[in-house]
Parts: sequence; structure tokens; C-alpha cells
Amino acid sequence: MRSTAHHADVIIIGAGIAGLSAAHLLTRAGVGVSVLEAAPTVGGRLATREVDGFRLDLLGPLLCASWPELTGTPGLGTPELREFAPGVLVHSEGRRHRTADLRSARGALRAVRTRSSAPHLAPGGSGSDLRLVSRAGLGGRGAEPGTTGVKSTGLRSAGLRSTGLRNSRTVSDAIDRARLGAALSRLAATPTARLLARPERTALAALAAGQMPARTVDGVLRPLLSALLGDPGLTTSSRCADLALRDYARGGLCVPAGGSGTLPDLLAAALPPGTVRTGVHVTAAGITTVRTKEHGELGCRSLLLATGAGAAAELLPGLRVPAFRPVTVLHHTAPVPPPTGRSLVLDGDRSGPVAYTAVMSEVDPSRAPEGRTLVTSTVLGTPPPDLDRSVRTHLARLYGTPTDDWELLAAHHDPEAVPAMEAPHDPHRPVRVLAGLYVCGDHRDTSTVQGALHSGRRAAEAILTDLGVRPAHGEGTGLREAA
Ligand SMILES: Cc1cc2nc3c(=O)[nH]c(=O)nc-3n(C[C@H](O)[C@H](O)[C@H](O)COP(=O)(O)OP(=O)(O)OC[C@H]3O[C@@H](n4cnc5c(N)ncnc54)[C@H](O)[C@@H]3O)c2cc1C
Repeated sequence: MRSTAHHADVIIIGAGIAGLSAAHLLTRAGVGVSVLEAAPTVGGRLATREVDGFRLDLLGPLLCASWPELTGTPGLGTPELREFAPGVLVHSEGRRHRTADLRSARGALRAVRTRSSAPHLAPGGSGSDLRLVSRAGLGGRGAEPGTTGVKSTGLRSAGLRSTGLRNSRTVSDAIDRARLGAALSRLAATPTARLLARPERTALAALAAGQMPARTVDGVLRPLLSALLGDPGLTTSSRCADLALRDYARGGLCVPAGGSGTLPDLLAAALPPGTVRTGVHVTAAGITTVRTKEHGELGCRSLLLATGAGAAAELLPGLRVPAFRPVTVLHHTAPVPPPTGRSLVLDGDRSGPVAYTAVMSEVDPSRAPEGRTLVTSTVLGTPPPDLDRSVRTHLARLYGTPTDDWELLAAHHDPEAVPAMEAPHDPHRPVRVLAGLYVCGDHRDTSTVQGALHSGRRAAEAILTDLGVRPAHGEGTGLREAA
């Protein structure tokens, strides 16, 4: 197909995960592709840097193991994923408790049903949106590694003492946990189309419309959703929040082994040699030509803009630029690992700048040199001026251990980390501007790795359709997303 007048059939601007996944689908179908990336390395917001033997994500995203694009994108193969411990550890009122763990929640449901005269807990309601989840309630206590408070095992891990249900607090904790399990189970089974058909408002309004006590909503659901959405105020669309919680309920949280940069690295390595050109900054773009700082004009038959939303609108005025959510990520090394194992730790009290934190060397040992500890923490929104000091003070409370001797390895702030997904949010924004001109990236879908990959797939499919080229064998043109 390639004409000598063309640098490539398709030029893709941006070697983030969206552009690379589109490049892969196009080259597999026999289309000549050139990916131009301004930065010296591929990956965009998913870059990982090596510092003193530590593998540090610039931004440290949380992935959902259930995302279909994570395991279904050609070129990624079956990436090695490292899972967090089931559920999350919420720090509240001076102690940590495990919650949002489907397994222990189911155990609690069984225990409450068989051993107490607690109210009937059969799943009720007719849907599985945030209202249902918030009505279901959270807040049980547990005895998984890293928890503090009630010490227990087996039945006790469901928040019940082996000697029976001794006090009403224990019973209500177990009921809350059981109800959460039931609600998350229903949510996990709900197809995308049904979630997207529900009324749309802010995630916070949807939570408030539920019947759970404010303690539960504020103490557990808010920090969990804030972490999943990168949105401390929860002004995100309730539909996107439903999707995020549903995907969490389906498979829990994970990170790529070796750092998030392994995902774009895998995709880039699987492309024909010379497809990706780094250090090439595109300054102007048309359908059949792009201008670069370094190599002048390059011709093509089709152009795909796979930059972030801001850069895309600079190259193609008229594209909508969403608001952005700033995120800051800090990496510390500690002399000894804090006692939370592979858990994601959330602050239920919102008593400091850290929204979530984890001992990443426990979750993924390949991120730290042998015997060293890596703690990665995320601050959502505008960071405080005395960032490292206030984060350490907060981490000391969350982990229950002094942090004065922790060493800051790196801190990275991105004011445009995550495109806001405020209502009304269309998670399938058009990727075809007109024949020959396409746009993809997380801002066309959901502001997640899944959304970026899915938008890249949609763009590649639109280009192939317009070029009249069949996709590679075995790759349908149907949209892949969590059903
Ligand atoms: C701090 C932070 C936390 C996040 N947390 C999560 C999370 O928990 N879970 C989750 O799923 N997602 C998370 N995300 C979002 C996720 O990282 C992004 O959705 C995804 O990486 C976007 O990929 P992309 O390919 O669309 O864009 P990008 O990764 O931004 O790629 C765009 C590329 O285009 C290049 N480019 C731009 N302009 C030009 C130009 N003029 N010429 C050439 N090249 C250009 C850029 O250098 C970049 O490499 C987070 C993001 C951040 C920043």
C-alpha cells in the first residue's frame, strides 16, 4: 500500500499506550505505520524510571485485573500482573481494617445467616448502581495481615468472634461486610450497557442518595472510589464510578510486574523495527502531512492523533479539552517494610494529603533491589507546599510506624494526569474526525489504561474500515470492553 511520496500509510502522533496499541493492530493488518513520539522514550504517562536499582513509575497507576484490553491487546501478550491483597485496608480512627474484600464478605454473609438472628440479608433492589452499593454498606473489621483492632481468624476473619456474636457492633460490622459482598457481587455481574443506561449524576450524589450512614460512605466508599477515579471530590459521572467499582469487584487491583512502563515497552518491542521514532516533536498536523521540529514535513494517507487531550487540541483546534485532575506520586524507601503486606492502604478519615499508598516492593518485588523496601504513595489534587514532610507525617499515621528515616527516592507531579469524567460523560467519544483523520487516547473513552487501549482499538478499526483493509486474522471489528 505504501506510496513513495508517503512517509507511511498512517502516521500516529504519540507513543503512549493508546497510540502503540493502534499501531499494533494496523501493522498486523499490513498497513505501514510510523509512530512519532516527542519524548526520548515510549510510554507517555505510563513511563517507568530506574533509580538506584528501584523501578519507579512516574505516575503509578492502579489497574483492574478484569480489564479485557489488558489481556486481549495483541502485542501485550499475557502481561505479568502483580495483584494487591484482596480488598483494601482502610485506616480510620487510629486503626486499619480490611474491607471491600468479596471473599471475606461472602464468609460474613454465611456466618451471619447461620449463626445469628440478624436481619435477612438476601440481595435486594433491582439494580447495581452506586446507590445500591452505598445502601449495601461497608465498614467491617477483619484480621488479614496489616489490620489492627479485633484479632481473629477463620470465622473471626468475617468480623465474628469464634465464641459467637457478642456485641451489636460486631454483628453490625459483619452485616455491613456481608451486604457489601452482596452488592459488589451484583455489580460484578452487571453488563456495561446496563450501567450506562442508569441515570447520570455525580458519584458523590449517587452515594448520598443511598441509605448508608455517612460514617460508612465517607469512611470507606469515598476513599475507595477516589483512588479508583483519581478524584478526591467525586464529581466524576456516577456511570464511570459504577464502571470503576464494577471492574474492581470483578477482579481486584493489580500492577504490571516491573513497572507500568513494561506495558508500552512490550507493545513497542512487538512492532516492526523502525516503526516508532522517539525524539520527534510534531508541531502541526493535517490529514496527509505532519510538520516536525526535527525532520520537516512527513506525508501520510491517514493521521492518528494519540497524544493527551491538551496536545491533541493544540494540533487540531476545535477538539474539546476536558478539565484535568492533578496527581502527585512519591516513592520512599524505608529501612524495614511497614506491616501491611501486599495491601492497598486508604485513608478513611482524609486526615492528610495521601489518598492511597502501598508497599510496592511487597506487591511487586521486582521494583526494588533485593532486601530494599519501596513505598509508593499518591496525592490527589493540588499537593501541599511542604509535600515530603506532610506526606511522611501522614504515612507515619497510616502505617503506624515512624517515617523520619525514610528516604525520598522520587516525586512526580502531573497537573494533567487524568482527564476529568464529569457528567455527562460519553465513554465512547468518536475517534474518527473525518476520513483520514482520527484521534484516540484516554480522553476519548474512560481516563484509564483500559480506556486508552480501547480507544486505540476503536481508532485502528475505523482506519482499517476507511482504508478498506481487513483486520488481521482473528481480530474482529467488534468493540472490546468489559461486557
Ligand atoms: C498520576 C496518574 C495516575 C493515574 N492513575 C491511573 C490509574 O490508577 N488507573 C488507570 O487506569 N489510569 C491511571 N492514569 C491514567 C493513565 O495513565 C492514562 O489513561 C494512560 O496512560 C493514557 O495513555 P494515552 O496513550 O492515552 O496518553 P499518553 O500516555 O499521555 O501518551 C501520549 C503521548 O503523546 C506524546 N506527545 C504529545 N504531544 C506530542 C507531539 N506534539 N508530538 C509527538 N508526540 C507527542 C506524549 O509525549 C506521550 O508519550 C493515571 C495517570 C496519571 C498521570
